[in-house]
Amino acid sequence: MKALRLMNWKSEPELVEVPKPTPGPGQVVIKIAGAGACHSDLHLMHDFEAGVVPWNPPFTLGHENAGWVDSIGAGVTTVKDGDAVAVYGPWGCGTCSRCRLGIETLCENPMAAPIPGGGGGLGLDGGMAEYMLVPFERFLVPLPANLDPIMAAPLTDAGLTPYHAVRRSWSKMTPDATVVVIGVGGLGHMAVQFIKATTAATIIAVDMKNEALELAKKVGADHAIVSDDKAAATIRELTGGRGADVVLDFVGAEPTMKMALAAARTLGDVTLIGIAGGSVPFSFFSQGYEVSLQTIYWGSKPELIELLDMAGRGLVHAEYTKYTLDNAPQAYLDLQAGKVKGRAVIVP
Ligand SMILES: [Zn+2]
Ligand SMILES: [Zn+2]
Repeated sequence: MKALRLMNWKSEPELVEVPKPTPGPGQVVIKIAGAGACHSDLHLMHDFEAGVVPWNPPFTLGHENAGWVDSIGAGVTTVKDGDAVAVYGPWGCGTCSRCRLGIETLCENPMAAPIPGGGGGLGLDGGMAEYMLVPFERFLVPLPANLDPIMAAPLTDAGLTPYHAVRRSWSKMTPDATVVVIGVGGLGHMAVQFIKATTAATIIAVDMKNEALELAKKVGADHAIVSDDKAAATIRELTGGRGADVVLDFVGAEPTMKMALAAARTLGDVTLIGIAGGSVPFSFFSQGYEVSLQTIYWGSKPELIELLDMAGRGLVHAEYTKYTLDNAPQAYLDLQAGKVKGRAVIVP
């Protein structure tokens, strides 16, 4: 079968022929419906080198995957051939206290995981191929009957990460609250929908591109404002001087982080999701009183189950552009150039 593989650090991935995997005991092979192309893959290809993570190429890319069960290994009982499934992407040890809660992102015994700190598409073979080996059946989540398996793929990361960010600050998203979403791209446009579907808070979207601001309005933002040095003041104006109860920064560059701190209301949450690598000083007076700063990383399996359910009921929708496996290298070039509408999904 064909697979898009990262052969070396600091190189472009290559389309190569590899054997179709067969499932061992407890394992499952899925036929891929869709595999999302993620910005973090660009970091993986271009910025990583030996020693950054405890694994190395070659491996097949694609850590946002969904499809149908193709074959099961001995002892697998929770899925059967033909079932539509999404793959929970962060693979932990399965037995530490975090993994038992389904928070395998924060596994505390990563040396006992299928690969330390990684997963399919992150050190082990991912979904940018016709078939993918899933090493434990617990990584599979059944899809609701009405959910398009191609759309389910990006939901496992580009959906799960913003859903986790939104959910973490739910208690502050009261009906009289204001939530700011900075950066309305693949993740940000999902965040707007999650806030809309699960709270009655007012949503202000901030982005540099008009197209993104239009998308934000279309998916439920109450206000869409241009990202410039006046944005924090505009957010103050729109909130009667109070500021935003929750600010979700999907960019993570110094200017957006400064904006987030300047726009946050006392007692508010500022959540850093984007990995642009910016930083800001943190001191007693660098933000309003009792503002919490937090980072988030991906999400838990229970959260994935919830969000797939929401998507199955049509409450949220992931915009995506399809690419064939042959065209997968182009998907990454388009992603790099900021030319993809919604999420790029490879459909073998
Ligand atoms: Zn990703
Ligand atoms: Zn664990």
